[in-house]
Amino acid sequence: MQKQNPKIYIDGNSKRYGIIGYPLKHTLSPLMQNGMISYYKLPAFYFPLEISPDVFCKTAKNLRYFFEGFNVTVPYKEAMINYLDEICIASKKIGAVNTVYIKNGDLIGTNTDWKGFADSLLLDYKVSLKDKNILILGAGGSARACFYAACQQNAKSVIIANRTFDKAEKIISDISFKGIKTYAIGISANELRKESHNSDVIINTTSIGLNKKENHYFSFKEVNSKAFVYDLIYSHETNFIKEAKKRKLNTGNGLKMLVRQGAYSFEYWFNINPDIKKMFSFIKNNNQRKL
Ligand code: NAP
Repeated sequence: MQKQNPKIYIDGNSKRYGIIGYPLKHTLSPLMQNGMISYYKLPAFYFPLEISPDVFCKTAKNLRYFFEGFNVTVPYKEAMINYLDEICIASKKIGAVNTVYIKNGDLIGTNTDWKGFADSLLLDYKVSLKDKNILILGAGGSARACFYAACQQNAKSVIIANRTFDKAEKIISDISFKGIKTYAIGISANELRKESHNSDVIINTTSIGLNKKENHYFSFKEVNSKAFVYDLIYSHETNFIKEAKKRKLNTGNGLKMLVRQGAYSFEYWFNINPDIKKMFSFIKNNNQRKL
């Protein structure tokens, strides 16, 4: 496939957008955001700004002077909330922001991860969360967004399994919606057995598998043959997904979630609902790593 090199012209009038995090070496956001800025011929550019934790607390409030808008990634999605002038209801419940825009000098935070996740399941994989039993593995920042999405989409039940049980319980108490059965469990084989059998959608939000050789603690032995299995990790096919495929289960990964959350950020900043296929192609065709 032919590479499409985004053409970005920068001059004194260019508006600055970007992503903050630490480290940022592997971020794919500049590829897709600059691709779309060039596609729509916008007078702007998007750049990665790696901020170390000791500098973050001194800089966060002043980011309004450097950017028109920016994405926030690990490890600042939660901490950034403390420096904002306003946040949306979803971000408040989730306890994290991944998108910030500046309005009349105020820093306004929102969360597009949960929408990107829900849209990706529904539109890319044709999986609706409505009335389904959902099992979420992990209780970090991304689990909170997935939990919120499942509740928002009126799942029947949402169970969180995590190594550190207290973190799973905290998600339940912070986010749960009325009328949806939710509870936390640990990750022993015994605890997971019943839930794995009952679940319609199983989502890995842990970082297990980021290292290609790492095996997941989850066993697919008793998983219902109609279950859909999703891994937020998109850089390669994890052993978690390989195991699910061995059992002939339908699977998906987080690459399109990444694009869809980025598309929502783009819309906040530029008021344009971007062409998702085009946005995806900027990652697929220009990325040096095999996805
Ligand atoms: P995080 O906040 O650091 O949470 C990581 C979770 O993994 C925690 O619940 C942790 O359990 C669990 N975990 C890690 N190692 C474990 C082990 N050996 N055994 C059992 N549990 C383990 O990370 P995050 O921000 O939620 O991100 C998680 C993953 O999602 C990352 O791989 C990230 O790349 C991916 N992600 C993808 C997208 C996308 O758009 N596709 C978006 C966001 C994140 P404890 O609580 O017990 O420590």
